[in-house]
Amino acid sequence: ELPAFDYTPQPYAGPSADEIFAKRREYLSPSIFHFYKTPLNAVEGKRQYLFDEKGRRYLDAFGGIATVSCGHCHPDVVAAIVEQTKRLQHSTVLYLNHAIADFAEALSSKLPGNLKVAFFTNSGTEANELAILIARLYTGSHDIISVRNSYHGNAAGTMGATAQSIWKYNVAQSGVHHAMNADPYRGLFGSDGEKYARDVKEIINFGTTGNVAAFISEAIQGVGGIVELAPGYLPAAYKIVRKSGGLCIADEVQSGFARTGSHFWGFEAQGVVPDIVTMAKGIGNGIPLGAVVTTPEIAKVLTRRSYFNTFGGNPVCTAAGLAVLKVIEKEKLQENAFVVGSYLKDRLNALKDKYELIGDVRGRGMMLGVELVTDRELKTPAQDETFHVMDQMKELGVLIGKGGYYGNVFRITPPLCFTKEDADFLVDAMDYTLSRM
Ligand code: PMP
Repeated sequence: ELPAFDYTPQPYAGPSADEIFAKRREYLSPSIFHFYKTPLNAVEGKRQYLFDEKGRRYLDAFGGIATVSCGHCHPDVVAAIVEQTKRLQHSTVLYLNHAIADFAEALSSKLPGNLKVAFFTNSGTEANELAILIARLYTGSHDIISVRNSYHGNAAGTMGATAQSIWKYNVAQSGVHHAMNADPYRGLFGSDGEKYARDVKEIINFGTTGNVAAFISEAIQGVGGIVELAPGYLPAAYKIVRKSGGLCIADEVQSGFARTGSHFWGFEAQGVVPDIVTMAKGIGNGIPLGAVVTTPEIAKVLTRRSYFNTFGGNPVCTAAGLAVLKVIEKEKLQENAFVVGSYLKDRLNALKDKYELIGDVRGRGMMLGVELVTDRELKTPAQDETFHVMDQMKELGVLIGKGGYYGNVFRITPPLCFTKEDADFLVDAMDYTLSRM
């Protein structure tokens, strides 16, 4: 039984999952996939729960792909969006709107150092494209270093920076170099971050003029299967990159905005201060909103020519962003992510002791990963098993995500209001499923 939740979903008179699925086959791009054997038609969301067309409740432990930070349709966020929508949705003097200015100010108060100037975008991809452009303009260099197994987006530049073949099409990876992943589970050097960073130096020495534009990295790789980079990696890599004149870009699209619990930003756990921070996903609670924040000095490079996009930072989205920040503070969601996340991780680790199939449990706060392997020694990815467990857990009422290059890692990134009872239910559902395999 799911934990008690005092809410009755609204009546739904729309088409069934099967009808939608039929239309989808005909009218939607075949590239858009869904995760389950039988399609799930989520028609309503409330806090950490989703409801299907029949009113059945599901615990959403993927959090809308790590976007729903405050919980589905949080009343404060909804109110901010409705209020702003009624007043003004867009204007020709976009960057003079109070919603955008207030959100930019609030963001700067959350960032260390001199990171205080924001440019708004519609997505994480756009934010990273802009960050890369800024670094190239600022340094006069073209070379970008990203970390293998990372995901940074799906436009030309970011697809180049993304370092997983499964997410790449035939775009030129112009000027991008991919550094060894500081992966404590699968990497050569275990948890010794500094050793992995030597590869960044090798890349600069042997693949560039000696100067680089930027190093871009997630602190915890999300799409790549919740890989928290080995401690000491980012400080060592940042030092090397800065010596070669490059800027350090922190891609906080998934790990930012309180998700990791221990810190507001993922990079803080490694004690570094980036030159550019990009964010999206959780900052709008599901509303399309991304941002690049950098220093006033670096931001000046964008005044050399024109740079603008039509929707980025529109008042409705930035009003949502500001409301999200306020909810995170009011409801102490970062603290909750830490407490419940630590509890959940402990319980998942106990499952690992019970089942050989679980090779690794990792991550922080509300960004946890469980990697399935058919052989612990060889770390052979258990792909079919991963899909099977996900599918069965959905039948039990729990939705989790999947990722990693081999598709064998559960991604658990629920709304930050997830409770201990939710954590127990998730683990019990996983335990039940694994015990029947
Ligand atoms: N960076 C990271 C770390 C991401 O996880 C993603 C999305 N999965 C992106 C960038 C791209 O964001 P979007 O899908 O909003 O373009």
